[in-house]
Amino acid sequence: MIGLISATAAGAAARDRLAAAWPERTRVYEGPVGDAVRTAFAQCEQLVCFLATGAVVRLVAPLLADKRTDPGVVCVDEGARFAVSLVGGHGGGANELAREVAELLGAEPVVTTATDAVGVPGLDTLGFPVEGDVAGVSRALLDGEPVSLDAELAWPLPPLRVSDRGGAYVIRVTDRAVEPGEREVVLRPPSLVVGVGASKGAPVNEVLGLISDALREAGLSAGNIAELATVDAKADEPGIVQAAQRLGVPLVAYSAEELAAVEVPNPSDAPLAAVGTPSVAEAAALVGGGELLVPKRKSERADGQPAMATCAVVRRLARGRLAVVGLGPGARDLLTPRAKAELRRASVLVGLDQYVDQIRDLLRPGTLVLESGLGAEEERARTAVAEARKGQAVALIGSGDAGVYAMASPALAEASDDIDVVGVPGVTAALAASAILGAPLGHDHVSISLSDLHTPWEVIERRVRAAAEADIVVTFYNPRSRGRGWQLPKALAILAEHREPVTPVGVVRNASRPDESSRVTTLLSLDPTTVDMMTVVTVGNTATREIAGRMVTPRGYRWQEGAQ
Ligand code: SAH
Repeated sequence: MIGLISATAAGAAARDRLAAAWPERTRVYEGPVGDAVRTAFAQCEQLVCFLATGAVVRLVAPLLADKRTDPGVVCVDEGARFAVSLVGGHGGGANELAREVAELLGAEPVVTTATDAVGVPGLDTLGFPVEGDVAGVSRALLDGEPVSLDAELAWPLPPLRVSDRGGAYVIRVTDRAVEPGEREVVLRPPSLVVGVGASKGAPVNEVLGLISDALREAGLSAGNIAELATVDAKADEPGIVQAAQRLGVPLVAYSAEELAAVEVPNPSDAPLAAVGTPSVAEAAALVGGGELLVPKRKSERADGQPAMATCAVVRRLARGRLAVVGLGPGARDLLTPRAKAELRRASVLVGLDQYVDQIRDLLRPGTLVLESGLGAEEERARTAVAEARKGQAVALIGSGDAGVYAMASPALAEASDDIDVVGVPGVTAALAASAILGAPLGHDHVSISLSDLHTPWEVIERRVRAAAEADIVVTFYNPRSRGRGWQLPKALAILAEHREPVTPVGVVRNASRPDESSRVTTLLSLDPTTVDMMTVVTVGNTATREIAGRMVTPRGYRWQEGAQ
């Protein structure tokens, strides 16, 4: 039983919401607060006090005996903004209770126990069915108790902080029809594709009966079905459509042509004549590749009439996932929430050591970090792709946007279609600098890298010249390094052939990093020796002006004339 104690009207209102949501689990203690807390402490396994933490500390301190037997105590503040796990975080279940209470009240759970502060993903948030002792195993993961992973299926999972020493708790990843034992959960990733064929008017029960017989005899679980698959001509066949609905999975359909191209063990003439492919069930199940676990079988009819449905079951190969994640220019609040989510999802992180340092605190415990120094780009790309091919969830990181002069291209040049790839955009240096400078990119603009390590200078020069002639705003990346001194002056000279010496130039070093600096100068006055590899240089077009110390490129030439 959870005892509920409040003192104020606001506290009572929050208390009543809890009491209404959990009528069986809670009991309201009224009367003077001190007495209410003492009585509830003696009678309940848990307390939720809608009181200040200080007040509750004073009231319960004399009552505390043993953390294994004391009730768990959660405090909720007057504004119901926080649910604080105060004592009995583990033994008393207060951490879990704080989360539940917070969820219900729309508050923030506050959990200060060391092992809980490091995020472990909820087993029920992985996006596929979980069976068994979810509460017990989750608690064990949170408490840092040894939990072992028994993965019959290689499937990309976020790091679950499992122990290789074995343990009393087990996480099993399988598509077999097994019952979870005590202290065990079974995770069921979507590994099975069921190919289905049916003649016109086949009853849904015949289709479902066939599928469930096929799975049962093969020792497989319906909880792992990813999708039903069939041929286009049967995509609207009610028995198949309803079977997918009842199983709660999507129905995908392929053209007869696509199916005819798939090698199958049991082709036949009947479907060839009817829909134009020698196999429906087997071919549809096998389109994406995988292992045929149940070859084509037909439904059985009690009345001895000819079978109206066929099915086949394939175990898909686990698809690894490669997330190419831009971290933004440096500041934590310019890292997008989506990038953060991908970093926390990853079981393997690949990146340059200085970028890994930038986000190390966001990684889940157990994440494998493969960091390397400058250079080694191709190797980083290869490593990331190779890890994804093993079925891992990989995050490949880069500063700014990972697709701009960065890792996305070498990685995708390596990747084949046997892995899923997602890109997460980041704030690239040109944009971070532009926001600092004012509005230099208000009209057409390009980025040009002045690094001639991988690109011949003639190519770079041709592009600078084209931008100069076309009066486009230019942002130079990699403008100048110790070994590359003459390229920036040369590039500026080319632009100066087409732009006034007073054309504004913005120089931003370490945008959004602690030692950020910036200035607006002109083509004539820019001193290239003040520029280094931490810097981007943005040169305005012929309409760009410095206004109140800010660099402003008008939206259009005519537009500005009109405004004057
Ligand atoms: N992918 C990165 C660019 C990598 S190329 C991005 O999208 O931003 C490296 C160059 O980017 C550096 O030489 C510098 O010119 C520029 N750069 C990257 N981060 C920067 C920052 N925070 N401030 C200024 N310039 C930066």
